[in-house]
Amino acid sequence: MNIILFGPPGAGKGTQAKKLVDFYGIPQISTGDILRANVREGTELGLAAKAYMDKGELVPDNVLIGIIKNRLNEPDCKKGFILDGYPRTVPQADALAGILDEIEKPIDVVLNLEVADEELVERISGRLMCKCGASYHRTLNPPKKEGECDICGGEIFQRIDDQEDAVQNRLNVYKKQTQPLINYYSKQGILVTLNGARDIDEVFEDLKAILAKFA
Ligand code: ADP
Ligand code: AMP
Repeated sequence: MNIILFGPPGAGKGTQAKKLVDFYGIPQISTGDILRANVREGTELGLAAKAYMDKGELVPDNVLIGIIKNRLNEPDCKKGFILDGYPRTVPQADALAGILDEIEKPIDVVLNLEVADEELVERISGRLMCKCGASYHRTLNPPKKEGECDICGGEIFQRIDDQEDAVQNRLNVYKKQTQPLINYYSKQGILVTLNGARDIDEVFEDLKAILAKFA
């Protein structure tokens, strides 16, 4: 089952991806998590990406292609994968199509989580993260123990790009550079749009119902 989880920042892609990983046993490939790990480790990629990320800009298209290609070729992607946060531009979608053609793993479905801007701002400004990639919200989805990740016990923190300055820019960048992919995948007949502004579990039930025919 080869899935793209699509939607604006804060739509719940990471939250739902974690649940899909548990349920279907296929990996989540989050370019945001990969980039943040590189920033933490101070790699060349991390150093190059940080300035873009902190401002809420996208990193240049060519930066992620090789990483995605290598990741999709790893053995755990044999049964399928969940792309979260990639592709985000038409050139990235074209590059992805080339890679998937080569390895004969076409995308089954693009799941588009729709959430209104006001709610996105509330979600992003209250988001707390763990370095394992788990995401929480101060009030909407708090961890069981304050300051501590439910999954790995790690310390949770606010992302720099979740601070007010970058949030509006990220929504603008989404509208300008990423939203055109809705039309791109809709034309291919593989886009399914669902209401992401419901309870986390309700959205998940809906996702499972849509995915049942691909499992
Ligand atoms: P994305 O990966 O799309 O940027 P996240 O999964 O990190 O989004 O979710 C953004 C924020 O919204 C997090 O704080 C998360 O806990 C919260 N959240 C996710 N889904 C829901 C939901 N259905 N209802 C309320 N809050 C949610
Ligand atoms: P995310 O965790 O998906 O919200 O991504 C956080 C930040 O990482 C984005 O604001 C971008 O700066 C960068 N990023 C993640 N994925 C991509 C991508 N596919 N293309 C360009 N930049 C990305």
